[in-house]
Order: sequence, then structure tokens, then C-alpha cells
Amino acid sequence: MVNDNMSDLDKESVLDRAREADVKFVRLQFTDILGIVKNVAIPITQLEKAFDEGIWFDGSSIEGFVRIQESDMRLEPDPDTYAVLPWRGTEDGSNNTARLICDVKTTNGDAFEADPRNVLKTTIQKAQDMGFDFFAGPEPEFFVFEKEDGQATLKAHDAGGYFDQAPKDLASNLRRDIILTLEEIGFEIEASHHEVAEGQHEIDFKYADGITTADNIATFRSAVRAVAELNDLHATFMPKPITGINGSGMHVHLSLFQDGENAFHDPGDEYNLSKTGYHFLAGVLEHAPAITAITNPIVNSYKRLVPGYEAPIYIAWSNLNRSALIRKPAARAPESTRIELRSPDPSCNPYLALAAILGAGLDGIERELEAPDPVSENIYQLTKEKRKEYGIETLPGNLKQAIDALKQDKVIQDVLGELVTSKFIEAKTREWDEYKGQVSDWEIDRYLEKF
Ligand code: GLU
Ligand code: MG
Repeated sequence: MVNDNMSDLDKESVLDRAREADVKFVRLQFTDILGIVKNVAIPITQLEKAFDEGIWFDGSSIEGFVRIQESDMRLEPDPDTYAVLPWRGTEDGSNNTARLICDVKTTNGDAFEADPRNVLKTTIQKAQDMGFDFFAGPEPEFFVFEKEDGQATLKAHDAGGYFDQAPKDLASNLRRDIILTLEEIGFEIEASHHEVAEGQHEIDFKYADGITTADNIATFRSAVRAVAELNDLHATFMPKPITGINGSGMHVHLSLFQDGENAFHDPGDEYNLSKTGYHFLAGVLEHAPAITAITNPIVNSYKRLVPGYEAPIYIAWSNLNRSALIRKPAARAPESTRIELRSPDPSCNPYLALAAILGAGLDGIERELEAPDPVSENIYQLTKEKRKEYGIETLPGNLKQAIDALKQDKVIQDVLGELVTSKFIEAKTREWDEYKGQVSDWEIDRYLEKF
């Protein structure tokens, strides 16, 4: 059975499909501001009512939604996101569970300002008002570890190198399972491969409009974890689980279209990038420090953003090397002209991350910001003096610096809205303060016997 969660579905066709597929439960999903997927399960008998009236829930217990006077909220299912969850059915194909991604509404029916999906929708609307359709394609990486006594370990589940393709290779079997599952939910998988580190994988799926891509990232993470779980393995999107080897990034390819044409493409330009493309790129570079708080939102994110592991540290762009924050991949066809932002990691809230990036790019277009020259050298190897000469700044070095950058950036704050900004800063400051007070193994190893 193939679900087609990327086409135009309405209430009636969803009800028909659910009946045909013997769906017994429907999970109504949304994400909190930290990007954690929340869901309320309803029996299929309630689905029609859920479409007609929505489902009420108490928002005050959701991270970032806390505002007592607004605690009653309503989930409004988006029929377009209907999908049967292949990992929840029974062997004979009966008793299935489906999911629908929802918009969060307040008591008076307005979109709830702190619903991350709404934040992205608002930013996409802004792009549309400027004449642009926004597209994004992610490259999520993740690790798969063995479990012992039901607990995740740091033991890679395969000892496969970059091109290990033996037919009995555990890693390729698992990746095949994951991909088949994703295809069943409607994903179009473009490429998948073993990443540099042991136990590390990357699966790339087709780019789509911003909302679909953010929904897909959320679904992708659940699907990968669920399939790993079925194999008694643990998949993690933690950005840097192991010291000294590559972390997991989630590079995002970005483009704008205008009247069906790629607005970033200009065949006459040296890098095939249009004025709109350069302004967008310049906007993302200008707001990069504040964006980082959103695209790299956990303490551990900053353990990945260090030299030597193909993750960016410097705020620069390049048409060649992968050490830059933004890369302009060579476009094979005009419609595939795009820029690749290499800082995001897969622990981010995909809705807020895409909103922040798009908002920054649109600001660059509105203010007609000029992009600096591309840097063709390996930026990791540039001296401090050279970086100064080229005007290359660094990304925030830790969560605290990123939060401080967000506090300074009114444009990104406007994109997120007042409530998300304040709740996000509050939650992240708490996280940082808690971390700061911890004594790490590194300190024990280094100091216990020395002092
Ligand atoms: N794992 C690297 C990162 O943290 C990226 C490797 C690649 O270029 O795909 O961003
Ligand atoms: Mg990769």
C-alpha cells in the first residue's frame, strides 16, 4: 500500500483511505518550540469530528506554549499530511495507525502564534507577498548504535567504512528497511549512503516547499527511530555523540522560485547566481549568528561546530570547498540552482529553523544586501590575519553565545514572534545554566590527580 502524503487530500478522501486501510487509530501531531513531536491519539470513529471541530487540548503543559490564559487550544488536522505509519500496523496489514500533522489554534480560531508550523507559514506567506515560493531540501545525518539491556550505547552497530556494501552488511539492511518505510509513507528518496563515521548514515529526500519539508523532517526522524527500534537498535540525531569523529549535520539546500522560474538562477553570472540569490545569501550570512541559536539549538550542537570534521565554523560562502558556512553547488540545470547552508544539525526544530533561514534571506532581499566575495581557500587553514582581511567572522562557539546573538537580532526575533523568542531564550538559558554547572569527565581526567 502506498500512501501519498504529498498530494492534495481533503477530509473525505482521508476518511475513505483510512477506512480502506483498516486504520483504527489516528495520531494528531504537532511540535513544541523545541521541535519535539507531540501527539494525541484518537480512535478512527473520532476522525470526522476532529476534522469538523478540531481536538481540544491543554496547551499549558507543552514547552513554549505556556501562557495560562491561553491554555485551551485546538488541533486542526491538515488532511494533506495523512499517512499510515508502516511501523505501527500488524503483520496481516490490519489494525493500522495513521497520523495527521496539525495546526494549533486558539479558542477564537486564530492560528496560535507560538505554533512552530504557524511561524513557518507566516514567513512563507511573507515570501509569497514578495512574489517568491520557498523550497528547501535537507540532508539529515544520524548515528545508529547498539542497545544493551534496552538502553542505547555508543557502540556503532556496524564497522562499515564509507563504501561498505556487502550484501549481509547490517548497515545496508537497516538503511534499506528505513528507506522502504519512508517510501511507503510517500517520501521520494534521492540518495543514501554510509557517512564517514562508523554507524553514521545520511538519507537525502527530495526538496519540496518549506512546510512539506519541515513536516518531512519531523516524520523522517520518527520513522528512522522507529525502524531502528524494531531492529533493536537506537538511532540518534544528537549532533555530536562521540568526541573526535564527525558529528551529524543537516545541511539544507535553499531556493526561491518566482512565477515558476528559479529566482536564484542567472546564466550570465560567474557562479550562475542571480541578484536575488546574492541578496538572499548575504541576508543569511548577516543573520548567521542568531540563526545558529535555532539551527543548532542544544549544548551538544557546538561540539560539532569545530574545525576538522566538515562542519562549518566561519561565516563565509564558497562555490568550491565544504569548510564554508554556505556552499553554492554547481547547478546541473537552471531549476536546480540553489545554495546550501551547512550549519544546521538534525536536533533543530525544522519549522523554526526554516523560518529563521528564510526570514534572514528575505531581509537580505529587502535591504538589497551585497554578498561578500566567495572564499576559495580552505577556511580552516586561514590565519587569523587573513580571516580579518577577508572580514570573515566566526559562528557562535557555544549555546550561550548563540542565545546572546539571538537577543541582539531583531529581524530573527520578528520572524519567530515575541512568544517563541522569549520562551525559546528562557528554555535555552535554563539548559545552558544547567550544563555550565556540570563537572565533566574531561575535567576529572585532567585535574583530579594534577591538583
Ligand atoms: N558530517 C558533516 C557535518 O557535520 C558533514 C559531512 C558531509 O559533508 O556530508 O556537517
Ligand atoms: Mg553528509
